Amino acid sequence: MNDPALAGLPGRVLLDHIVPARAAWDHVVRAGESLRIIDLEGNQAVDFLLYAMRDDSERYSAQDTIAAQRNIFLRTGSVLMSNEGNPMARVARTTVAYHDTIGGACSCESNTLRYGHHTKAQHACVDNFLDANLRHGRGKRDMVSNINWFMNVPVEADGTLGIVDGISAPGLYVDLQALMDVVAVVSNCPQINNPCNGFNPTPVRVVISTEEPV
Ligand SMILES: [Zn+2]
Repeated sequence: MNDPALAGLPGRVLLDHIVPARAAWDHVVRAGESLRIIDLEGNQAVDFLLYAMRDDSERYSAQDTIAAQRNIFLRTGSVLMSNEGNPMARVARTTVAYHDTIGGACSCESNTLRYGHHTKAQHACVDNFLDANLRHGRGKRDMVSNINWFMNVPVEADGTLGIVDGISAPGLYVDLQALMDVVAVVSNCPQINNPCNGFNPTPVRVVISTEEPV
């Protein structure tokens, strides 16, 4: 593995893909495999969901994850919990200080409420999630609270949420190790009305690798 962007990943690359700006992506990650998401140009929010392969009514739960680790931010060592209380994946390593899981995904509806009716036709993460999930037979009822990798949502002392300039930078990444067979669903966030993407959505790179020999 000569690419320095892949340093620290287990040896055999199963998939290496660029998710274009604003696009959706989904892929199976088997237990033990690693998924690296690289913020290629910096300050790009990557909205993210996990579903269990064997029964997708088991899926990522922000609430269970926060309760289990007793902290609202995701960092190296965080364990992503399911709605059934099972560990789905572990943040094996990240070069960003922390990631968000309470800010939610942008939608046409929330955009029009926050930013005005003229934003109604803008593409949004909820569209991407629905598009990716439909390929697996999931619909609106299967949309749950998500993770926002690389997104900075500080919580003030009085509980106020911010969506402010990112703390990510070009080349920073997060490594997830799957603890069960999962489907990872990504929306490379198209938001242009707040600083979560630096007002300029950009591509990200996803790499799945394994320690298993061929
Ligand atoms: Zn978004």
